[in-house]
Amino acid sequence: MKITIQCILAFCIFLSACQSDKKNNKIISLVADFETEPVFSSGDAADDIAILNHPNIKDGSIIIATDKKRGLEIYNTKGEKIYDYPIGRVNNVDLRKGFYLGGKKHTLVMSTNRTDNTITAHILQEKSGILMDVQARPLKSNLKKIYGFAMYKSKTGKMYAFCSGKSGKIEQWEIFEQDKKVDGKILRTFEVGSQTEGMAADDSYGKIYIAEENKGLWCYDAEPNSKTKRKKIISVDAPNMAADFEGVTIYKTNEKKGFVILSSQGNNSYAVFDRITNQYLGSFRLIDGNEIDGTSDTDGIDVSSSFGSEHPKGILIAQDGANTENKDTLHQNFKIIDWRKIVKALNLK
Ligand code: CA
Ligand code: CA
Ligand code: CA
Ligand code: CA
Ligand code: CA
Repeated sequence: MKITIQCILAFCIFLSACQSDKKNNKIISLVADFETEPVFSSGDAADDIAILNHPNIKDGSIIIATDKKRGLEIYNTKGEKIYDYPIGRVNNVDLRKGFYLGGKKHTLVMSTNRTDNTITAHILQEKSGILMDVQARPLKSNLKKIYGFAMYKSKTGKMYAFCSGKSGKIEQWEIFEQDKKVDGKILRTFEVGSQTEGMAADDSYGKIYIAEENKGLWCYDAEPNSKTKRKKIISVDAPNMAADFEGVTIYKTNEKKGFVILSSQGNNSYAVFDRITNQYLGSFRLIDGNEIDGTSDTDGIDVSSSFGSEHPKGILIAQDGANTENKDTLHQNFKIIDWRKIVKALNLK
């Protein structure tokens, strides 16, 4: 009897210790440094972003964003809109450097276009920031409704694209040159289980992180001939997490080290994981500041390990579901914060 009571007491102490641990690991509040111009369309329109750093670009970097009712928009390092491509209802966008076309290396920008259920392919003219359509033909998906998107450049030198559908099915494409144009073919399909959008491939490790919106964040092998066994990174029920899980992105400190960041949309926060161990390291929010409003209902996020002349360690950019200015509501946009603030606040090593 005595032992039982002691056991219960010990268990209670253990439980309260777990509780206080949970409380101590609270979500940290930060304020964005600046924001992009609002997207063209009203309502829920801004969605996903990709950052390109290149020495030929003015101030070194640009942001390519989706207005999911209209097309792609390009912003400079101040968040000013410099180009606008009304190519259809593009949902998610991603890019990779070093794609050979006509014997020259190019930056390939691809997106999922819900207007015609295709993936689009553009190359970026770095000096001008202009996108050029380079599709050999419409790259039609077999998914019912094309949705999420991520690119993967393999160590084998091959380029791949992953598309997700609203049902949770994934299509992996190989992307290749055909008569100086970009063509592709579907190599494998697999089921995640339910609605899936946010994805990010880690080229160094041959992995792809996939957010199943209502369930959790998974990691799969990205090579097309690999088995579809997966590793759970975190569940939507874990402390500091709340469904839906949306955007996923990878901060690369170097070739091997860095962080995986996830938009935990249900509690308006961003969760950070170690890129090597996948251990959860902490979460932050972007709250209202004096000039820049905070983020809510974030879909896409992206990071870059350098950005323009003023952000040598890069930035995080996050879609904001409700963009305000004083008391006015404007069209949606994207908020940007210097990466060093996140490192300091979460004590990232
Ligand atoms: Ca949204
Ligand atoms: Ca979604
Ligand atoms: Ca979305
Ligand atoms: Ca806001
Ligand atoms: Ca604002």
